[in-house]
Amino acid sequence: MSLKIASINVNGLRNNKKRALVFNWIVSQNIDLVCLQETHCTHDETGLWNREWKENGGGESFWNCGTNDSRGVGILLRKDFTHCFDVSMIDNNGRIQIGEIKINTAVYHIINLYTPNNGSDRKHFFENVKNLNDLYADDSTDHYNVFLGDFNCALDRRLDRAPSHQNEDTGLKELKSLLLKFDLDDIWRSKFPKNRRQPDIEVCNDKKCNLLKSAFTEDKHLYSQKSSCWLQSLYKLKKLLYFDSLQVSYTAFEDSLKTFYKCKISNQLQHIKSNNTVKLRYYSRICSSFDLKAYLSFDIPKYERSLLTKIRISAHSFAIETGRYSKPKTLVTERFCKYCGDQVKDEDHFLLYCPLHTKTFEKGLIFSKI
Ligand SMILES: [Zn+2]
Repeated sequence: MSLKIASINVNGLRNNKKRALVFNWIVSQNIDLVCLQETHCTHDETGLWNREWKENGGGESFWNCGTNDSRGVGILLRKDFTHCFDVSMIDNNGRIQIGEIKINTAVYHIINLYTPNNGSDRKHFFENVKNLNDLYADDSTDHYNVFLGDFNCALDRRLDRAPSHQNEDTGLKELKSLLLKFDLDDIWRSKFPKNRRQPDIEVCNDKKCNLLKSAFTEDKHLYSQKSSCWLQSLYKLKKLLYFDSLQVSYTAFEDSLKTFYKCKISNQLQHIKSNNTVKLRYYSRICSSFDLKAYLSFDIPKYERSLLTKIRISAHSFAIETGRYSKPKTLVTERFCKYCGDQVKDEDHFLLYCPLHTKTFEKGLIFSKI
C-alpha cells in the first residue's frame, strides 16, 4: 500500500480567492491526505470550508480551529479516499490534530503539528509531543505514527534563517531528541543539503519582523504603482542576470551577482587604463583583479586604512586631481607640486619622490598629511 501525504503551512486561508486557489492546487497534485497549518479557521467557518473543499474536487475535511488571525490545523482527504478514517484532537487550540487510518490489521496515526513561535512554549510543546507517542503505542497491532507539520524551529541557524540568528532557537535540543526518537527528517533539507532557506518576511510571526513586514507591504504597493522602490531594483537585477523568476536559490542569485559585477568592474578598469585622463587612472594601474586587497587586512586603525583607500582611488587633493577642476582645466603635465615647483604632484610623487613628504614619512606621520 502506498499513501501520498503532504504538509503545508498555508499562512491563513480566510481570503476566499486564496482558499479556492489553494484547494484547487491541492486537488491538482493528486495527494491522498494533506495536513495544513496556520489555517486561521474558526468554528464559524468549518461548515463552509468543508463544503468548498468538496466543491473544488476534494473529499472529507477536518479542522482544529485557532483564532481568525493565528493557529489552526486541518486535514484534507482526496475525493476517492477509501480507507477507514477518523480524527481526534489532543488540544482544542489549533495546534495538534491526529488522523487515524485503519488498513486491514494496521493502524496509522497521522499527527499534524503546528508548533508555537514563542521559545518557551515551543520547548514545552516538543516535550508534550514526545509523550504523545506513548498514548498510541499498541503492541497488539501493526502500528505506525507519522509526525509532520510546521516545527517552527531552525535546525541549522546559518542555513535555515536569513539573516542568521545569533543564538540557537529555544527548543532545538528537544526537537533534535524528537527527530531521533521518531526517526523524523527535514525533507526539504534532504533534497537541498546546502541551500539557504529563503527569508519569508510575510509569514514571519516574530514581533521583530513587524516593521520589516510593513516596509515590504509598502514596497509591493509602490511597485504596483510603478514607482521607484527596492522591489523594482530587485526585478531589474533579475532581468540583468537572466533569471526568469525571483524564486531562485539565495546562493545561485549571490553567485550570479558576484560574477556579473566582477566582469563589469574588470571591464571598467580596462577602459580606464586605455583612457589616461579619467578618474581612477591610478587605481587602474595598481589594481587589475577583483579580490580582497592585502592592505584591508593590515592591523592598522580603521582611519588610517581609509586614508590608504583615499590614495588608491585618488580621493585626495593632490594637484593631479585638483587640476581637473580648474578652469580652464590644467594639463596633466602641468599639475605641479607646490613644494617642488617642477614635478607633477601625483601619487607616485607624494609617496616616493617629494622631499617635503619624505621628511614626514621619516617621522612616521604619513597619514596625517594625505
Ligand atoms: Zn613635491
